[in-house]
Amino acid sequence: MKDTDFQPVLDDIVATLRPLLGTAGTVASYIPALACIDARQLGIALRTCDGTEAFAGDAQTPFSIQSVSKLFTLTLAMQRMGDALWERIGREPSGNPFNSLVQLENEHGKPRNPFINAGAIAVADRLVSQALQAGGSAKADILALMGSLCGEPISFDDEVARSEAATGFRNIALANFMKSFGKIDNDVAVVLDTYFHQCALRMSCRQLARAAAFLCRDGAHPIDGQAEVTGERQTRRINALMLTCGTYDAAGDVAFSIGLPCKSGVGGGIVAVVPDRLTLCVWSPALDGTGNSLLGMKALELFVARTGLSVF
Ligand code: GLN
Repeated sequence: MKDTDFQPVLDDIVATLRPLLGTAGTVASYIPALACIDARQLGIALRTCDGTEAFAGDAQTPFSIQSVSKLFTLTLAMQRMGDALWERIGREPSGNPFNSLVQLENEHGKPRNPFINAGAIAVADRLVSQALQAGGSAKADILALMGSLCGEPISFDDEVARSEAATGFRNIALANFMKSFGKIDNDVAVVLDTYFHQCALRMSCRQLARAAAFLCRDGAHPIDGQAEVTGERQTRRINALMLTCGTYDAAGDVAFSIGLPCKSGVGGGIVAVVPDRLTLCVWSPALDGTGNSLLGMKALELFVARTGLSVF
């Protein structure tokens, strides 16, 4: 399929799935500020390696990117720390829900991977340490990365961050539990503030498809193709983690039915990568039981079925 032919595919996916909006799944209500989001929304956007963009439906509506942010904080930590990062965080699928505590005790506070909550909180701790050394702040570093990747300013939704801080008892427990094993170096409150804010980034499908574009271009910056976001080897590793861990306990099913590295969030967004070809972002707020967007997954299934694109 030629890169210019994607627009009709996206239009067709939105037209096919629109009648299903509001019929299944539920929005993430455990974060009160997300409970009131209208579930009847669906957006899809892609950006090819040569910079061509296509989008359909509610692709320009900003939403709370939630765990999709874990992709970008991991990128930042890998840029800054290289292999030292893996002393604190594993690379194995957890087979458990994203907010699970159960494996941490046996593994002495070392999270299974950077995409479950415990792992992302550990990554946030590394970013806080790096930022303190440089006299800056991890939140500012995250905004700077996102703004650079999108080519326009990106901001936090402070209401969502506050809402999650007020009700994030599990994340607070995870952070304290890791701290008890000596696996969190910084003040837990500062680390969690960073984590809650990264989850509260507000972005649209178009912006996310662009921001993640380095993942289909061997790490080249989405806008300034000469600059490198990460090296080729690191980019390959991020894609591998997305495929094996990016959708939590649904990762096996997603590899089976979609066959693309994906990273999802409970705001209903999913970023997917077709290496050397394009990045894709779908968004629909109603989630399935694993916390992945129900129609977002259907949209990706339709996309791979109609284009034949897969890593396998
Ligand atoms: N902020 C959410 C949480 O910590 C992120 C979870 C997700 O998107 N899967 O629970």
